[in-house]
Amino acid sequence: MGSNRVTIIYDNRIARDGLYPGWGFSALIEKDGEQLLFDTGADIIILEHNAAFLGIDLKKTDYLFLSHEHCDHVGALSSALHEGLIVVHPDSFSSGFKDRIADAKLEAVAVTDSVEFAPGFRSTGELGDEIKEQSLIIDGEAGPVLITGCAHPGIVDIARCATELAGKPLALLIGGFHLLTKSDAQVHEIAAALKQLQIKQIGPCHCTGDRAIALLADEFGPAFIPVKAGTIIEI
Ligand SMILES: [Zn+2]
Ligand SMILES: [Zn+2]
Repeated sequence: MGSNRVTIIYDNRIARDGLYPGWGFSALIEKDGEQLLFDTGADIIILEHNAAFLGIDLKKTDYLFLSHEHCDHVGALSSALHEGLIVVHPDSFSSGFKDRIADAKLEAVAVTDSVEFAPGFRSTGELGDEIKEQSLIIDGEAGPVLITGCAHPGIVDIARCATELAGKPLALLIGGFHLLTKSDAQVHEIAAALKQLQIKQIGPCHCTGDRAIALLADEFGPAFIPVKAGTIIEI
């Protein structure tokens, strides 16, 4: 293997000069010859620039997995659509969105419950009450990898659900943890709960917020991975 990896295309922060930062999240997952784009970020110019900079052809993807219908995750949708693409989205997405996918004559997987929609790729299913969101579980070499968009349903609840679905501790958890409004004490509680799930490595980014990211880096020490646009992680 060795070529199975996650490349962060779009994030609030950048790992390398030449990339554009922007509020939002998008990542490319390459696994066993399949390419999956996780979310699109907000802005077409940023997505297309960063993808080109990283040598990623957005028209060569097999799947587009969308976590939730907020503009910082689906805003650059038009840059990600192309013939033959399979779009995996929560069933609760708007009829306007579904019409766009139908008009583009693309296959759609409308997710409610957890489903393995491709070999080694599983959705947690739609989680949360007010803002419904799905997260992605990838069957990685070192164990299950969980990727979240904004984690509106709660990062601990999502991680617990994914751990149960995978049947073993997560090897890696990356994405937005949505901790901007949490106090330091609450962030420490969340870190303790994630440790209890025996997650091996974490890479919080996007809407986690700089303060919570710094606290989690302290808490997790060598198990913390800095994740920004341009970061590449073997899985
Ligand atoms: Zn977000
Ligand atoms: Zn959101």
